[in-house]
Amino acid sequence: MSQRSIELPVLASPDPVDHPAAAAAFNADVARTEWHDESLWFVREKRDRAAAAVPDWEELRVRASAIKEHALSHLDEYLVQFEANALANGMQVHWARDADEHNRIVHGILAEAGAKRLVKSKSMLTEECGLNPFLESRGIEVVDSDLGERIVQLRREGPSHIVMPAIHLKKEEVGETFHEHLGTAAGLSEPTALAAVAREHLRAKFLAADATLTGMNFAVAETGGFVVCTNEGNADLGMALAPIHIASVGIEKVIPRAEDLAVFLRLLARSATGQAITVYSSHVHGPREGQALHVVLVDNGRTRQLAREEFWGSLKCIRCGACMNTCPIYRRSGGHSYGSTVPGPIGSVLTPGLDLERYASLPFASTLCGSCTAVCPVKIDLDGQLFRWRQHVTAAGYVSAAKTLAVRSSVKVLDRPRLFRALGTLARLGMRILPERFLRFGAGAWGRARDLPPAPRESFRSWYRRNGANRR
Ligand code: SF4
Repeated sequence: MSQRSIELPVLASPDPVDHPAAAAAFNADVARTEWHDESLWFVREKRDRAAAAVPDWEELRVRASAIKEHALSHLDEYLVQFEANALANGMQVHWARDADEHNRIVHGILAEAGAKRLVKSKSMLTEECGLNPFLESRGIEVVDSDLGERIVQLRREGPSHIVMPAIHLKKEEVGETFHEHLGTAAGLSEPTALAAVAREHLRAKFLAADATLTGMNFAVAETGGFVVCTNEGNADLGMALAPIHIASVGIEKVIPRAEDLAVFLRLLARSATGQAITVYSSHVHGPREGQALHVVLVDNGRTRQLAREEFWGSLKCIRCGACMNTCPIYRRSGGHSYGSTVPGPIGSVLTPGLDLERYASLPFASTLCGSCTAVCPVKIDLDGQLFRWRQHVTAAGYVSAAKTLAVRSSVKVLDRPRLFRALGTLARLGMRILPERFLRFGAGAWGRARDLPPAPRESFRSWYRRNGANRR
């Protein structure tokens, strides 16, 4: 491959994301790290059981991947077809080149109608575009209505996961947030009680809203309609009540035909949370009587990614979050450590294309174990793309001299079996003769950081040689 052939935007980068440092800070709270890891693994196991219960699961993945590849290869045609059918359905269609244009379009729609209160249902695209601060600075109240999103919004944090935005928080922390912002009793952390308070709080916001904004899971070119999936029904309540509905969507979400939904809807919820189907999968084919329905089609770097031969497949993503739930690095470093709207393996593949210098550490936030690729419902070769981004990051000079030296030295050692064996013998000898204090400081440091015992002084092979005879 040509490591210099990739076209990258030149941006004035804010500080680069230091994923290792942010992950170390997350790991300092050992109990939280363990609990975060276990919670996500629980979801991963649910996904496995749900997938295993569908006999044609692998065929569905192959089919979904093929549909997405076809749609992306003919995106120009399908977008135009979607627009024509959406217009025929009574929707108004807007096109946004980037985040700023998206935000200005949304603000323009609201300003023209004199709307001051917007209720949003979960939309990672509007997080990506920074819509909330944009509107708030212009005097518009924005309320995220997905429960997890509302919790992180009240805390002035971003979501840490694309499906479970508040997965990094314990119920006690949610209780404190509600006490501070919603006036619940101090110490109240019982989830059902908190959910009841949130429902009452959000109902009032829905009833007072001048407009609602939803994302789209799928935009169907053939019909000009779209599908919004939620578990809480919040998007539906917003769409049913507000006089203005704005639906923002990344251009890669277009699929050719309505029948393709039968493939994606079976994969999406099972991959995301292990549910057979999302609780609400709402199909929208036009505005309610008296309602204005605006669709905003957003590029924001997607056509650039589409033009990259090595990375265009990442646009197949249906944002299920399964690659995050299975990733050993994500599970033990938390979503905020990625410093990007979309964290985890797919985020580490998408964000370097937006700003390579800022996100240079993310392709290394992976063990390259391939678990993300194995669970991805649309068969994105995530580990392969992460590996290829590493090569671009290195070629661009964003890898530290110490890391480059360490990797080059390793290559030299691993290329020479004799040298490898000799160094192994030396290392084992060192483990035997060096004082315990030294080992605890050196090799033991990794174990201590992970709350694990220090590395053993003897290799398993030598232990087996000594004890194997006794066992026969
Ligand atoms: S890359 Fe695949 S597994 Fe990850 S969020 Fe997207 S569709 Fe889901």
